[in-house]
Amino acid sequence: MISRLEDSFRQIQDFSDNVSHELRIPLSILRGQTELSLKRPRSADEYKRILRSNLEEIIRMEEIVEKLLFLSKADRGEIEINRYDVDISALLRGTYEQFNFQAREKKIDIKLKLNGPISVRGDDVLLSQLLLNLVQNAITYTPKGGEILLSACRNDTEAIISIADTGSGIPEEEISHIFDKFYQVDKSRSGGGHGLGLSICKWIAEAHQGRITVKSSLGAGSEFTLYLPV
Ligand code: ADP
Repeated sequence: MISRLEDSFRQIQDFSDNVSHELRIPLSILRGQTELSLKRPRSADEYKRILRSNLEEIIRMEEIVEKLLFLSKADRGEIEINRYDVDISALLRGTYEQFNFQAREKKIDIKLKLNGPISVRGDDVLLSQLLLNLVQNAITYTPKGGEILLSACRNDTEAIISIADTGSGIPEEEISHIFDKFYQVDKSRSGGGHGLGLSICKWIAEAHQGRITVKSSLGAGSEFTLYLPV
């Protein structure tokens, strides 16, 4: 029992360290920029540039806090999950359309393969957030010229949604950690993320009695597969 207690104290400590670290960076940028801008009078254009840059940091902090609030509400069972008939193929098509422009701007060939409607019981807003996170990650971690394939099919019991990319891949020894809160394989290539998106995806999948699996090979790409009961 003592070792379990020690484990949970350590988890709380690690969690506080991570939150402080993630918020410290945007806060110190905000402080530095504000102090510098107050050192001497500046033109209206300069103030605008500084305010715009400060706004970016504020949005970054807001995103972290919103994701953390979602996860702590989720842990306490306080997220309301609607149970509608949702066509997951239509939801995937919507996600594809939403990211089509961003992918093309990055010269990524994004394709969609569907086999007709697939109905699952669930919350369309949460499921769409899950798909959005996975596709955004695929775009973030796939370099120019890469490919992304979004597909959905079903077997007797499950809808199977796959998001496969030819991006950077994930080292084998790190795959088991990527769903942990704040875990990032390589902060320098994170594309501004905070390592919270996949924890949210996993929670949403499990709240729908589903699961997510990952196959990845370093330098060759990743495939995230979502299974949801039909
Ligand atoms: P982030 O906001 O950093 O993207 P996530 O929780 O969504 O956080 O993902 C955790 C980590 O998993 C990422 O930092 C990245 O290292 C890795 N990862 C997620 N999706 C992919 C992908 N499609 N290809 C390569 N690495 C990925």
